Amino acid sequence: MDLGLKGKNAIITGGSVGIGLAVAEALAAEGVNVLICARGSDRVREEAARLTEEFGVKTCGVAADVATTEGVRAVVDAAKGAFEPVHILINNAGTGSSETIMEAEDERWQYYWDLHVMAAVRLTRGIVPIMTSEDGGVILNTSSICARQPLGYEPIYNVTKAALSMFGKCLANELIPRKIRVNTISPGLILTPDWRKTAGILTEGTDQTVDEYLQGIADENTPIGRFGTPEELAKFYAFLCSDNAAYCVGSTYYVDGGWLKTVE
Ligand code: NDP
Repeated sequence: MDLGLKGKNAIITGGSVGIGLAVAEALAAEGVNVLICARGSDRVREEAARLTEEFGVKTCGVAADVATTEGVRAVVDAAKGAFEPVHILINNAGTGSSETIMEAEDERWQYYWDLHVMAAVRLTRGIVPIMTSEDGGVILNTSSICARQPLGYEPIYNVTKAALSMFGKCLANELIPRKIRVNTISPGLILTPDWRKTAGILTEGTDQTVDEYLQGIADENTPIGRFGTPEELAKFYAFLCSDNAAYCVGSTYYVDGGWLKTVE
């Protein structure tokens, strides 16, 4: 589908695998130049090179930890010049946690705050000045269904993702006068390589296969009875990046196969 995005410039954090990579692919397929970042340098550079080869767009793979100010600065510096003006910023890097509130140390809270919230804050401050153009821009934050419907084993993840969703709402109000549309996407179960790896570890030495384990999780949680794929989720990101979503501002969209149990 031609979404009218050809020639735009996008930055995607956590773009070397999973949801972020699928979003980078969906945008590159529309002719968008993509800068992807992740901590692991080999994978992010290999994927950037592959995207150029497959889709003929300009790419850049930046090795950076966006949970740090230096990492964010590296992304902003890489975007300056080559990816100016930036049209699309996807704050996507993140990861699950496992702890109890009674036992987790301050440092753990701080790390997830820096990764899920401050990365988006700092990148916004760094990128918006090179974003505003006549065409305006788009910022999407990857939150989680857990921001609204918490999972018991990961309170720090739930809390910091809820903060990210609220950040998106506040930012949307602040930036819409500059024609920058901010929205948040809260996925449910999305089958990334990491889910398969975890399932492999948990089923090792048992009678259950990886697919059976994953199907059990999908059956238990989602009315649709399956995981979503990164590719089908990425199509929604691409739509929100386009002018077809011109009236979508400051919202949180759940893409979760019906998992959310409340009306939103
Ligand atoms: P993956 O673990 O598959 O990929 C995470 C990506 O982020 C990788 O590219 C990773 O690369 C990068 N990354 C992680 N930490 C950092 C960091 N500090 N700085 C820069 N890059 C980083 O995750 P998913 O694709 O599953 O998740 C993407 C987002 O979607 C996350 O925010 C997650 O919370 C959210 N989400 C995922 C769901 C799912 O079911 N998969 C459901 C709901 C939300 P590297 O390790 O090399 O840094």
